[in-house]
Amino acid sequence: PEIYSRLKTTSGSLYEDALKFDEILTARTFEKFSEDVDKTSWHMPAHMVNAYYSPDSNTIVFPAAILQAPFYSLEQSSSQNYGGIGTVIAHEISHAFDNNGAQFDKEGNLNKWWLDKDYEAFEEKQKEMIALFDGVETEAGPANGKLIVSENIADQGGITAALTAAKDEKDVDL
Ligand SMILES: [Zn+2]
Repeated sequence: PEIYSRLKTTSGSLYEDALKFDEILTARTFEKFSEDVDKTSWHMPAHMVNAYYSPDSNTIVFPAAILQAPFYSLEQSSSQNYGGIGTVIAHEISHAFDNNGAQFDKEGNLNKWWLDKDYEAFEEKQKEMIALFDGVETEAGPANGKLIVSENIADQGGITAALTAAKDEKDVDL
């Protein structure tokens, strides 16, 4: 159902209104537990510069706002566009096959659809990815490879796919 008509700025305080909006939006989330799943509903507004993969609907979503420079522009080279939105699109698709997405089937249900031997090989690859990043020094201290493995799998898939596609362009700039 429509939510925006419930969000009214009435208190005279931006902080109080923000708190009230948060309560209303949280209540809306709880309402969804008793409703049929709406797989057409987006988890982000169109004006947000972001993108996501949703395992429970097996969809990738790119709000309109990300389809601009530096991610994408007709003024940019094909290499810049592959390095921008191309990498983002492939990153989100790769989330369907990360440690979380891999547990959902094509209908978005938590369901093991892999052959046992393939899933075991996948888990070995995950361990390698965890080890690759575990302990890497960052500004916030050493990285926890296990905690960030889903993003690292998606980045690896995203960059590899975008680079492969970019190399097919006549004006590729590596
Ligand atoms: Zn991601």
